[in-house]
Amino acid sequence: MKGNGNSLLEEENGKLRQDEKMLRLLCDTSSSAFIYYSYQDDRFETLGNWNHFFDFSISDRKDLTKLYDRVEEQYEIPLREGLFIEGQKRDRDSFEIKLKESRLCIEVEVNVVYDAEGNPTDKIIRFKDVTKLTAQNDELTYMAYYDILTGLYNRNYFVRLLGEFLRRAEKETKKVAVMFMDFDDFRRVNDGMGIIAGDELVQLFGQYLAGLMNSNVVISHFSTDIYCIAIYDPCGARSVDTIYRVIRERLKKPFKMTDGQEVTMTVSVGVSEYPEASSGTLELINCAEIVMFKAKSRGKDKIQYFDGAILEEFLQTVNIQNKLKEVVFEQNFTMYFQPQYYAKGEKLRGVEALIRWRDNKGDMISPSVFIPIAEKNGTIVPIGNWVIEKSVQTYAKWREKYHYPLVLSLNVSAVQCKKRGFIESLMQILEIYDVSPSEIEIEVTETILIEDFDYISEQLNELKKTGVRISLDDFGTGFSSLSYLKGLPIDTLKIDKTFVDTLLTDKNTKIITESIIYMVKRLGYETIAEGVETEEQFQYLKELECDMIQGYYMGRPMPAQGIEDILEKLAVKVG
Ligand code: C2E
Ligand code: CA
Ligand code: CA
Repeated sequence: MKGNGNSLLEEENGKLRQDEKMLRLLCDTSSSAFIYYSYQDDRFETLGNWNHFFDFSISDRKDLTKLYDRVEEQYEIPLREGLFIEGQKRDRDSFEIKLKESRLCIEVEVNVVYDAEGNPTDKIIRFKDVTKLTAQNDELTYMAYYDILTGLYNRNYFVRLLGEFLRRAEKETKKVAVMFMDFDDFRRVNDGMGIIAGDELVQLFGQYLAGLMNSNVVISHFSTDIYCIAIYDPCGARSVDTIYRVIRERLKKPFKMTDGQEVTMTVSVGVSEYPEASSGTLELINCAEIVMFKAKSRGKDKIQYFDGAILEEFLQTVNIQNKLKEVVFEQNFTMYFQPQYYAKGEKLRGVEALIRWRDNKGDMISPSVFIPIAEKNGTIVPIGNWVIEKSVQTYAKWREKYHYPLVLSLNVSAVQCKKRGFIESLMQILEIYDVSPSEIEIEVTETILIEDFDYISEQLNELKKTGVRISLDDFGTGFSSLSYLKGLPIDTLKIDKTFVDTLLTDKNTKIITESIIYMVKRLGYETIAEGVETEEQFQYLKELECDMIQGYYMGRPMPAQGIEDILEKLAVKVG
């Protein structure tokens, strides 16, 4: 019996040893470390990968203070409390701590086992290394909020913060301003110095902007060269004006690149404000962006405040751009012609071709509205070609029928004129309809000359060589001085309507117009006065020896048939 009992006990012991070995193996091969505490024996034991975490061991209660010493300060109290959950009769808790020196992030899990009476018997504290996970998490969090290049907020997070500003502003009846900021001519930097330099400039400027942030001013890098600033309750040092002034002051100094180059640049800024412009986050940003474009078109390096009229103009532009996409030339466009007369003798000199557009709903859209838009999006080229072909075709019919010597004036926009092959295609059309270049006059406005003077004057000289006449439209509204025009192959100057309008009422205009006509004639140009509406204007211009007259007084723009009627009458007279 005894022997039997012994072997049974041995067997039991062997099994226990086996279990213990297995447990140790489990602990040792796990990357975690453990503290085991037996309440009964008041005994501490460390197991597992303990050395990975700590360079001391724990054998009694006071060793625990070593543990507290190793964690970063803010984790000390949570750790002290977290280890003793039995005080609250809890059986499980977990929390994170960070070690001071090794910078390890550790997940601590505390488990307490109770007996049937509710007294704690065993405690296991597990330490798990979560440094990598936390770092990945931090990076993800960072990427979710920040722009890597500049360290500013990214667009998404900015929108969220702006939303918070708006909610607060509503409660506190305050304003929120949004400044939408874009580099001027960023392509110049990218093309001239390379994309890497461009990135560096974006980064340097972003880092500068980051220094302007505070709890009421949040700044974001939206994309490439676009930044957005939201200001809560803009006033004093954080008013839009002040911030703009500060930024501009910084931009006066160059940015130093790592390769030693120095770059200066300017920005255009659009501003919208809650609640005036909108109460929605995205709308507010959109409004600021739209008015920013206005700042650009006003000549860059400018700030533009929100204005309902700008928004309306923008919407109209978008609307027209969309309609332009749908336009069917023959169906929606038609040509009108306005007669031009010699002042002396009131003989018909020619006609100016003016386009008319009736959209699919039957509404007329003025060329002064859609031509500038078509110029910007490039549709002016096919439209311009259509205008030329249609007008020349009509003109050729009149000439064949009436043999009356007329000049056909065609408006040509800068974009169209600059396009390579413009002269060739014009000549081709003239050839098709058997019209001589000397019967054609091309009207260009002086704005054409501002950009790229050399190329345009070369192009105009080429055009002139073909025998086509050249007329400078809207003369007097732009920058052109007479001396500036001397080198250009111009035949005719069209004196703008604004002069004609005030001719008889404003003494200054009178003097200017008189001297213009006088000097222009001395330089050998012909003059046409545009927008002549009254008998008095007509008589007065005639006295000044203005060569030709165009305007409602002599005849409005009219469909081809109207001109034909005039020619018909003239033919009858001659006949
Ligand atoms: P523009 O070349 O200066 O044309 C003269 C404008 O003044 C025309 O306006 C004409 O209808 C208007 N006008 C003529 N006489 C009078 C008058 O006595 N009183 C008043 N109040 N207005 C008068 P429209 O036809 O609306 O054209 C506006 C502008 O659109 C033109 O100014 C021209 O710059 C552009 N445009 C018109 N047709 C074409 C075209 O076929 N091609 C291009 N590129 N531009 C065009
Ligand atoms: Ca014109
Ligand atoms: Ca004009």
